[in-house]
Amino acid sequence: MDLSLSDEQKQLQDAAERFVRDKYTFENRRKIAAAERGWLPENWAQMAELGWLGMSFKEEDGGYGGGPIETMIVMEQFGKGLVLEPFLPTVVLGGGLIAAAGSKAQKEALLAPMIEGKKQFAFAWLERQSRYNLADVSLKATKEGKGWSLSGHKGVVYNAASADEIIVLARTAGSPREEKGLTLFVVDGKAKGLSRRDYPTQDALRASELTFDKVSVGADAVLGKVDGAFPVVEEAVDRAIVALCAEATGCMDAINAATLEYIKTRKQFGQPIGKFQVLQHRMVDCFTNAQEARSMTLMATLKIDDKDPVVRRKAASGAKVQIGKSGKFCGQSAVQMHGGMGVTDELSVSHYFKRLTMIDLMFGNQQHHLTRYSHLAMAA
Ligand SMILES: Cc1cc2nc3c(=O)[nH]c(=O)nc-3n(C[C@H](O)[C@H](O)[C@H](O)COP(=O)(O)OP(=O)(O)OC[C@H]3O[C@@H](n4cnc5c(N)ncnc54)[C@H](O)[C@@H]3O)c2cc1C
Repeated sequence: MDLSLSDEQKQLQDAAERFVRDKYTFENRRKIAAAERGWLPENWAQMAELGWLGMSFKEEDGGYGGGPIETMIVMEQFGKGLVLEPFLPTVVLGGGLIAAAGSKAQKEALLAPMIEGKKQFAFAWLERQSRYNLADVSLKATKEGKGWSLSGHKGVVYNAASADEIIVLARTAGSPREEKGLTLFVVDGKAKGLSRRDYPTQDALRASELTFDKVSVGADAVLGKVDGAFPVVEEAVDRAIVALCAEATGCMDAINAATLEYIKTRKQFGQPIGKFQVLQHRMVDCFTNAQEARSMTLMATLKIDDKDPVVRRKAASGAKVQIGKSGKFCGQSAVQMHGGMGVTDELSVSHYFKRLTMIDLMFGNQQHHLTRYSHLAMAA
């Protein structure tokens, strides 16, 4: 199998690498994280101009006809710079859900401006009790005239404070953990009855707790089929997992590079600590772990469009397990080899480790995906 990138994909990789080099020095990132939104409008505008916000969508949906490989390429570079712009919630999740389930009118009203950089999204799926179960949804949507009324709570909604529209997973029928009876709604980020508590996360992203108190939406707010959202959400999340895995491979490359540099320069007992064989062995293990993670991510990226949902699910879960394992190993080893410096806010390694830890937790940790994988394998 030829796994090399096309010329266009190489150009995309170069452009993303340049973006990270120019915009995401360690000091710049600190300033961006401290900015009002936690990301920069000029960076978002540049991403739109470079075509990154539309590259993975079909041409008939207003995109540029790329796919998961293009997403993988930019996400990997974003991981190297710990980029803070809300690409995952807006483009991968929000845009992905609209492209998969939206009507022609919704795609025109939502996807087209998103691709131009003029609209942002958040996806509200998680609730306090849900843990990693996507179907564990209690927020209720009840019929109200021709439209709907939404009441309940959503937690850790990334980018909710900046989102023009929030895509909400709500229960329209069935019991709390049933896969049937779930519906997606597009809700105005400033809707009456919607309140937010905003906070920065450990990895310097922005998230919110949302409370819906009888939020009224029209019938046209439904995204996809009433009671039939689960398969759409599951697929969108699998795609987001693979994108996250790509981001994690970028983080691992960066944290390994920083550690290698450190052990070549830090002197103890009259010589660079990289001369000690035990650290050389650990460094090699870090490299191997990152390579394993990269291979699994690449395989999942190539399989994510498979028509058989079992192939897609196994690919996403398999990659997520390896990412969790490798990320933890590279992160812990970086801290170990940096000694006390490794846990300080002044060094990049602590920030990469925090992001890798949060990536492991997002959409299900290693254990969750190992269980999902084994159930899928046994059912086959
Ligand atoms: C939260 C925190 C609080 C602290 N508080 C205090 C305090 O109150 N007072 C205080 O004095 N210090 C304090 N320290 C510093 C702490 O004692 C040192 O960080 C620790 O001893 C490690 O030393 P180092 O950071 O210089 O690492 P280094 O000596 O630079 O070691 C870096 C890496 O190289 C490895 N290494 C070093 N030498 C060898 C060798 N010969 N063979 C093989 N591998 C080697 C180490 O195992 C490690 O993996 C604190 C550190 C932390 C993180």
